[in-house]
Amino acid sequence: MTLTKTVRSSLIASAFACAALTGNAYAQAYPTKPVSLVVPFAAGGPTDVLARTLAVSMGKSLGQTVVVENRLGAGGTVASNVVAKAAPDGYTLFIHHNGMATAPTLYRKLPFNALTDFTYISLVADVPMTLLGSKKFPPNTMVEFIKYAKEQGDKINLANAGLGAVSQLCGTLLQQALGVGFTAIPYSGTGPAMIALLGGQLDVLCDQTTQTLPQIKGDTVKVYGVTSAERLSYLPNTPTLRESGLKDFEIVVWHGIYGPKGMAPEVVAKVNKAVRDALKDPAVIQKATDLGAVITPEDKQTPAALQAWLKLEIDKWAPLLKAANLYAD
Ligand code: ASP
Repeated sequence: MTLTKTVRSSLIASAFACAALTGNAYAQAYPTKPVSLVVPFAAGGPTDVLARTLAVSMGKSLGQTVVVENRLGAGGTVASNVVAKAAPDGYTLFIHHNGMATAPTLYRKLPFNALTDFTYISLVADVPMTLLGSKKFPPNTMVEFIKYAKEQGDKINLANAGLGAVSQLCGTLLQQALGVGFTAIPYSGTGPAMIALLGGQLDVLCDQTTQTLPQIKGDTVKVYGVTSAERLSYLPNTPTLRESGLKDFEIVVWHGIYGPKGMAPEVVAKVNKAVRDALKDPAVIQKATDLGAVITPEDKQTPAALQAWLKLEIDKWAPLLKAANLYAD
């Protein structure tokens, strides 16, 4: 049986109308079940702490629980790939830091594209890093640390959370600037690395204040320097790495929320609103302040701002990482 042109086009039109209605109804109902927020590192680390702080508040805004899911491995790229391949239905979200921008240069082969395989939702917070030593590690100040590092070299253990982790980035830039080579100890995140530092099995860790500040305040670690360009108001006596002679040293860890490519705009808008609500939540603001995190200004809490920032950061880090000759296959 053949359909007349008119009947065929009216069938096509109603199929489109139906799909649009279904999509719209789906977006209106979203979320009807718990939403997962993937963290690319181990529980207890700085990215995890930030994720869990946001998840509670985003859950209140969405009317559904936001469940943090730690997907570990390869400096965050295992999680990025899991998210890139997930259904773009709004039930898989992702929080990641600068690693999203460094991985495309660090890995010769990546099974995803940071610039085209994700839906961008919002920037959330900037966090500085601190260079720490274990209480058992001899140097007490940055000046002593530099002297000791040059004398002891590879006898010193330094943690990293894989190629693509900011701890690894900080450690690489530090060793380059000092002209030394420490012994790298890999962890699935800096949550476990901090436990080793506290236990004295690890000498040195460079990590975000979201994890390190409570330890510094509790005097359970030694703090040598901060990676921000300026000293931090809450650590006024701790020098910047720059002022300690490490020319141009600066790492600010920024964090963004993503989903897989192809999320419906209405769902993106709902998730973006939940992020914005969380970033206004007094409990989140208090926790961020306690942990040295600076919440992203409201005008930058947008999908477009995250996407533009990611592109800028990929371009910024590429030449620095190429110069450091760091690659993985
Ligand atoms: N701070 C880690 C990093 O080095 C990751 C983490 O555990 O949050 O990237």
